[in-house]
Amino acid sequence: MKTDITIAQEAKLKPIGEIAAGLNLSKEDWEPYGHTKAKLSDKLLGKLKDQPDGKIILVTSINPTPAGEGKSTVTVGLGQALNKIGKKAVIALREPSLGPVMGIKGGAAGGGYSQVLPMEDINLHFTGDLHAITSANNALSAIIDNHIHRGNELNIDPRKVEWKRVMDMNDRSLRQIVVGLGGPLKGVPREDGFNISVASEIMAILCLSTGLEDLKARIANIVIGYTYDDIPVTAKELEIEGALTLLLKDAVKPNLVQTVENTPAIIHGGPFANIAHGCNSIIATKTAAKLGDYVVTEAGFGADLGAEKFLNIKSRAGDFEPDAVVIVATVRALKMHGGVAKDNLKEENVKALKKGMENLKKHTETIENFGLPFVIAINKFPTDTTAETDFVESWCESRGIEVALTDVWAKGGEGGILLAEKIIDKAESTERDFKRLYELEETLESKIRKIAQTVYGADDIEFSSKAKKQITFYEQQGWGKLPVCMAKTQYSLSDNPALLGRPKGFTIMIRELRPSIGAGFIVVLTGDVMTMPGLPKKPAALKMDVTNDGKIVGLF
Ligand code: ADP
Repeated sequence: MKTDITIAQEAKLKPIGEIAAGLNLSKEDWEPYGHTKAKLSDKLLGKLKDQPDGKIILVTSINPTPAGEGKSTVTVGLGQALNKIGKKAVIALREPSLGPVMGIKGGAAGGGYSQVLPMEDINLHFTGDLHAITSANNALSAIIDNHIHRGNELNIDPRKVEWKRVMDMNDRSLRQIVVGLGGPLKGVPREDGFNISVASEIMAILCLSTGLEDLKARIANIVIGYTYDDIPVTAKELEIEGALTLLLKDAVKPNLVQTVENTPAIIHGGPFANIAHGCNSIIATKTAAKLGDYVVTEAGFGADLGAEKFLNIKSRAGDFEPDAVVIVATVRALKMHGGVAKDNLKEENVKALKKGMENLKKHTETIENFGLPFVIAINKFPTDTTAETDFVESWCESRGIEVALTDVWAKGGEGGILLAEKIIDKAESTERDFKRLYELEETLESKIRKIAQTVYGADDIEFSSKAKKQITFYEQQGWGKLPVCMAKTQYSLSDNPALLGRPKGFTIMIRELRPSIGAGFIVVLTGDVMTMPGLPKKPAALKMDVTNDGKIVGLF
């Protein structure tokens, strides 16, 4: 089998104008970024507001292995399959972050014959959105430090600045730093730190805003920290919302590209799902819904993270409902949940698979709880045996669960036709009773408890003394009515990455809360999860290169 990059380089891309024309877009609706990428106009969504909406299909998965279970691959493959059977489908995906690209995963543009292209650009600098987000975030940091240095009129307590600097890289050594060292000319010393750009509030704001005006209003609401008297200080008080919005004026426009099979894909925004809300922008999803009969979109990691946040945060902020859900499962991850070590996942082991099905079962219950119809997609890997895939199929069928063996990685859209047919049936059916897990009026504790108990299967939740104080303080500030964005490991349903399968009898430890008032949610940190990841011992970057004639290698 060819590598992703070889398949990508062999694909016949259409000029992006042809893809735009296929969506009935006129010249003023898009602007080219090279030959195969475009930005859609920020006026487009408003222009299309009276068009009917296509069906929204959310792709989620079981708890993954570190390599990923192929959600992006299945999302792309399903979009291609829908087009193959004559439906007009548009894909909506997140933009990759250089952290995982250089770290473990090596790319996040799908895989095999189900990729979005040009994958080299998408995986590296693309249209500069991540750069703009990073710049806007760090401009605010610079303004904060300058304000403190130049007399600190707002009385900001340097020990209580919550706003962190960001960069789009896994760099553990920047998690905690001291800035302003070196005497009076170098500023006021204070503790600071870096988050990865995709965990930044600016990224969340970009993804949750509905246009430029909303973007600016949300930026103005950012709480950067507190005064010496514990009064929240906002970006508005620093008079910086205009400049930050200016820095984001192009980043707020969604990016149009195509897949290996020339299916249109809108790629926009890329928050992680473990430490952020894990979904592409509302603008992208809504635009895709206006342009296609079906939107296939993905939310990061398992249904305990991305899908929960898609359903409780994103769809609420965007005021829409998904029509059907695909839960991606792989034989290898199910075996891992059944106790097989990472290095032995390629060997047939139906016994472990049977045990691991408990993890899938939990995620199906979660989606049922939201009242949404779903299909399980077995993302077929070359190492899967027939005995293994047969087992997963019969497990589903004996429970009345729709399942589709899906081979979009090796075969492109052709390998996803069964999934496409089954998901159309679900999306068009009336067996839907969508309900969110909590109401905004509930207390923060009640929201956290419902997620922990219903989605993770925890017995209880426990707050650190810091988190307890924060809950009381946040409720006093009037922030208690916001949704919560849980930060939790993606590997386990619990907050302990080592507890695989379907852990029972555990308590979720709430370590700390962070206000993302501009984004409109409260981040809740559980376990040891970090908002700046580190690199593994052998980062994927070590295999990457560019030849003297400009050919890219090693980008998976
Ligand atoms: P996720 O979106 O769940 O993180 P991706 O779609 O990015 O996962 O896939 C992760 C990696 O696994 C990619 O390198 C992709 O090429 C590879 N992959 C996905 N599906 C398959 C498959 N069926 N067979 C082989 N490799 C696959």
